[in-house]
Amino acid sequence: LNRRLAEFGTTIFAEMSALAVSTGSVNLGQGFPDTDGPQAVAEAAVRAIRDGRGNQYPPGPGVPELRTAVADHQRERYGLRYDPDTEVLVTAGATEAIAAALLGLVEPGDEVVALEPYYDSYAACVAMAGGTRVPVTLRPRDGRFVLDLDELRDAITDRTRLILLNTPHNPTGTVLTREELAAIAAIAVERDLLVVTDEVYEHLVYDDSAHIPIATFPGMRERTVTISSAGKTFSFTGWKVGWVTAAPELTAAVRSAKQYLTYVSSGPFQYAIAEALRLPDTYFTGLRDDLRAKRDLLADGLARAGFGVFRPQGTYFVTTDIRPLGEHDGIAFCRELPGRCGVVAIPHAVFYDHREQGAPFVRFAFCKRTEVLRDAVERLAAL
Ligand code: PMP
Ligand code: GLN
Repeated sequence: LNRRLAEFGTTIFAEMSALAVSTGSVNLGQGFPDTDGPQAVAEAAVRAIRDGRGNQYPPGPGVPELRTAVADHQRERYGLRYDPDTEVLVTAGATEAIAAALLGLVEPGDEVVALEPYYDSYAACVAMAGGTRVPVTLRPRDGRFVLDLDELRDAITDRTRLILLNTPHNPTGTVLTREELAAIAAIAVERDLLVVTDEVYEHLVYDDSAHIPIATFPGMRERTVTISSAGKTFSFTGWKVGWVTAAPELTAAVRSAKQYLTYVSSGPFQYAIAEALRLPDTYFTGLRDDLRAKRDLLADGLARAGFGVFRPQGTYFVTTDIRPLGEHDGIAFCRELPGRCGVVAIPHAVFYDHREQGAPFVRFAFCKRTEVLRDAVERLAAL
């Protein structure tokens, strides 16, 4: 293994899912739904295969039906206009979009500012691109993990190439507010930075929170690469259909890298997701309402079990503080948890450069069937 990747080892998600299987635990670690997405969307994929659509290499940028559906989605939801031919790129999940954006846009030695804790692939992809990551730590305040805008400003140097943003934020559940996004946008414009923004949880926002793409702020459309994925919105994480929307030069840069990573993404699933994006609004609100109820079920159960609970504004993860349980080390706690009560969770520390900052926090996923969550809550109550 080369020096760029040596520090990363096996991704925590693989490690913890294997632990769940070997111990027969309830897996609230890796974030994937235990129920598939809409049957009609699954049928659309089957139909595409049967009808011979996408069984051979689809076009490099993605099938036109999906690129158009993505452009329509951005316009109808957010008023963002993108040309499906030059400003939309289909990728193998958001994961490839992140990798291709960094490989296509970062020069060796460039600095990439990212919110910490960060989704684990960010660090590895910055390293593969030869960049240097500069984490800005989100800090717990009044039940929410908050970005300190002064810390963000201080993190930017003459070598900063881009800000890698994620909202709704995994693992903390923070949804950046209009004011926070406006401030980040102003910094990006003032310092002439690109923003790569991971918005895979765009439809999973609760209560009074709203998802606002940073590309909608003044001066941002031309400097923002927006990334999303069908995995979260349609509960088909195994299909690995993601996409990028960005100005033509930025899309071309991401495509340059993508064409040598996977060349193209799986064909029939693209046709199915093109249909999924056109589901009526009741689908999206139904998903959100279902997950909000599950959030409350798990968050309340964790609170009763003695955890400090950060009720998320978005995503399908609850972050907890284990210090009220008399614990301090989330990594050790998560390794022991299957043995102690048969539940798997993810320690925040693995998403930090400043590991001590993340040490007492542990993430639980609630994208699971209600009876599974009830079972988990009962097990956790016995801690
Ligand atoms: N970004 C974030 C913040 C995520 O949580 C995930 C989880 N899968 C991804 C990207 C990857 O998405 P995909 O499965 O579409 O590659
Ligand atoms: N995004 C999901 C999570 O954060 C799954 C990640 C993965 O398996 N790579 O848990």
